[in-house]
Amino acid sequence: MSAAGKFSEYIDDMSGFSEDLFCDIVRKSTEKVLSQTEICTISHLLYSKGFFEGTSGNISRRLSDDRILITPSGKAKNTLIPEDLIITDLNGSVIEGEGKPSSEIKMHLAVYRKRADINAVIHAHPPYSVAYCISEKSLDLSVMAEAAMILENVPVLKYARPSTDEVPEHLDPYLATNNVFLMENHGLLALGRNLKEAQYRAETLEFTAHVNSIVVSMGGGIKHIK
Ligand SMILES: [Zn+2]
Repeated sequence: MSAAGKFSEYIDDMSGFSEDLFCDIVRKSTEKVLSQTEICTISHLLYSKGFFEGTSGNISRRLSDDRILITPSGKAKNTLIPEDLIITDLNGSVIEGEGKPSSEIKMHLAVYRKRADINAVIHAHPPYSVAYCISEKSLDLSVMAEAAMILENVPVLKYARPSTDEVPEHLDPYLATNNVFLMENHGLLALGRNLKEAQYRAETLEFTAHVNSIVVSMGGGIKHIK
């Protein structure tokens, strides 16, 4: 007999508790633990690569139609442990967790509400991307095949004070058609069908910004891919 079968036999006097319900609870619990671990791993990795300074930045992942897992406010990304992460619904109400969700949760929720295909969001402040958020120079994506293919198009969102309603408002016009964004005088935002995809997009953007910066500092012309 399966573990689920034994369990439902053991509790067969509990009305409404079925084997299907048991399996659903186990599945959701397993997915939560895997998602917590994955967010912590990527947080530590991106911190070590200079994507977060101090307690900045935030990462989230969709758990179900009405639940997301998000990093807490005020914790450095290299110290995160699975228990620090917060579960909220799509209105931002805390369902599980001790701390407060990231102050940028409105931006994350706007993504999950509008994009059913997106299951992960990363917001970070890596220096070369931030430099292009501040500079009047445009980031040139047509210098490397990876940048052109993975990033396609990177809109620069008009400045909005962090954590205000203006952040999702400035994102909204571009959200249906883009997956990577520069936020004026602030940082980057990368979306993905999963956390790995969001991570690769964020890393590709920072690498492209870094190379662009070196090429600009060298002076002279730029060879574009044909
Ligand atoms: Zn930020």
